[in-house]
Amino acid sequence: MKRFVFFAFASLVLLSGCGGKSATTAPSSNLYKATKEMMGTFVTITVVATDAEQPKAQQAVANAFDRMRRIEDLMSIHRDDTELAHVNREAFAAPVRVSDDTYEVIRASIQFAKDTEGAFDITVGPLVKLWEEAGKTGKLPADAEIKEALTRVGAVDKLKLDDKEKTVRFMVRDMSIDLGGIAKGYAVDKAIEVLRAEGMNNAVVQAGGQVTAIGRNADGKKWLVDVRNFFRANGHFERLELENMDVATSGDYERFVTIDGRRYSHIIDPRTGRPVEGASSVSIIAKDGATADAWSTAASVLGFNKATELLRKNDRYKDCQLLFAGCTQGFSDYLAPENN
Ligand code: AMP
Ligand code: MG
Repeated sequence: MKRFVFFAFASLVLLSGCGGKSATTAPSSNLYKATKEMMGTFVTITVVATDAEQPKAQQAVANAFDRMRRIEDLMSIHRDDTELAHVNREAFAAPVRVSDDTYEVIRASIQFAKDTEGAFDITVGPLVKLWEEAGKTGKLPADAEIKEALTRVGAVDKLKLDDKEKTVRFMVRDMSIDLGGIAKGYAVDKAIEVLRAEGMNNAVVQAGGQVTAIGRNADGKKWLVDVRNFFRANGHFERLELENMDVATSGDYERFVTIDGRRYSHIIDPRTGRPVEGASSVSIIAKDGATADAWSTAASVLGFNKATELLRKNDRYKDCQLLFAGCTQGFSDYLAPENN
């Protein structure tokens, strides 16, 4: 295996820029582009469309946003009225039937839990809450509290799914599913599905640190996606060429809590019950958004060597590239797919 030294990545920026106001549109030469605020970030969809194709492109993009919004309405962890909130309230008392979308994400998440040896675990809810609370009070959780919360965590053995009935059941009281590590990637996949179904085969969907590019850009070339290099001089970007691939970035560079002056990541190691340390930014390139999203979260927990080992031994991930930056380790690496 050959390794290339690479540098730390923080956030992803499509060349033409990201962010902006909610629902802004900016048609430019042979592109139709729109941005909306959703899923706790800005989502930008760009499609290649001639002047004559603009109305069709506009409709396709609106439909793709609607699809993402429906997923947010089902899975948001910040609201009480979502299907996921209902599952979290009721799934210990009895199996809860869920939508195809929610079922698909939970089913996939259990597979990711197995493939990452438990590093990716959507049942981290009790631990996420414990550490969020600690961030608010400024007081670290006691060991006993962490130990107790851990008894309610375990996607592989404490979550029961019924593929026929599409039901979810908790085997332990007060479990809680948190889809924050995968829902955005899944939503981007579904937006891409809508665009393709409407004949838009050259497009980019970007949701915060998650970008999928399909087909080619307006010049018939591969899409260029800039990934911000957090540890280089201000404003430095690494440029990636993407075609039918997704890149996702996880890290504590923008989401963390501070307790006693120390910074704690929003990503929890489900094996210890504590926030991960030393992984400041991890980027993963994969064939689909859900895989890149889940694995970028998991790789933050696993560290470069273990994540690489697990990705390499599983044929399902042969197209994945891991871009990893370890802040405290003081190095970062780029693993090209042919070296897997
Ligand atoms: P991401 O930014 O994609 O890495 O997702 C981080 C979010 O996923 C956190 O804010 C939590 O909601 C959730 N999360 C935290 N730790 C884990 C974990 N080990 N496995 C799965 N989801 C997690
Ligand atoms: Mg993720």
